Amino acid sequence: MIVDVHTHFFRPDLDFGPRLRADLARCHVNPASWGEIGERHLETTRAADVAVVFGLQASATDWNIPNDVVARHVARAADRLLFFVALDPLHPHCLEELERGHQDLGAVGVKLAPLYQNVHPCDPRCRAIYQYCVKHGLPVLFHVGTSFVGGTLLDYSRPVHFDAVAVEFPELRMVLAHLGHPWEGETIAVIRRHPHVYADLSALYYRPWQFYHSMRLLVEYRTEAKVLFGSDFPFTTTGDSLAGVRGVNSILAQSGLPGIPESVIEGILHRDALTLLGLPHPGRGRPA
Ligand SMILES: [Zn+2]
Repeated sequence: MIVDVHTHFFRPDLDFGPRLRADLARCHVNPASWGEIGERHLETTRAADVAVVFGLQASATDWNIPNDVVARHVARAADRLLFFVALDPLHPHCLEELERGHQDLGAVGVKLAPLYQNVHPCDPRCRAIYQYCVKHGLPVLFHVGTSFVGGTLLDYSRPVHFDAVAVEFPELRMVLAHLGHPWEGETIAVIRRHPHVYADLSALYYRPWQFYHSMRLLVEYRTEAKVLFGSDFPFTTTGDSLAGVRGVNSILAQSGLPGIPESVIEGILHRDALTLLGLPHPGRGRPA
């Protein structure tokens, strides 16, 4: 079974504020190139058996994707999509939104993005979220590593800060997205220390040297079992990401550099993310 643990749903025209539009334009990202996101999401995520879907709430960088809208989209393919509630720790009613997302909208996990939200992962407002998640068995997927957005502290995205979260909340299941690029080595140092901290491979394959290097680090530290497959739709698709991960050795040519064993690649692509994160199968209910 293939689980894409990292797909976004949003409506750029309605959900992106002016600062975010300016950031996208500065980095030459054109939201129109994503086409009709809802239909494309439903179609392209079929390359996996199950996909996790979330929006983003981040007043500091002008993202405002209503959780209700994402939950409604997930309901269109409830047999194969899972909804994570997106929270902005700076929002005064963040904990109410967490409870509403979990109890009324059917969220089975939480999405946070400290870099986008300009909040330290160890901030008391984040820790209140972690407490709820531990109590109710909800995993948290964090954006970790760099991004095109400006105006916030890059430091909040350093993988090492999530080490401190894991020490304080050892039962919290966490996913550090994008292997924390360009600090993949630091992310590996964190995930190998904590049984419930994982990373995902989303949005990495199209930087072939860095991706190969990161995969070698995973092999050399023997941490590949802590890594899950993700795409980062609509920045890429599930199918393109599967092909990109499988093509990791294509830059080696005749270089003599060691390849990434197929067993490592396929092991990651078929990792049982649902069981590891304590998630239900959308069509079948919770794992035994
Ligand atoms: Zn993402």
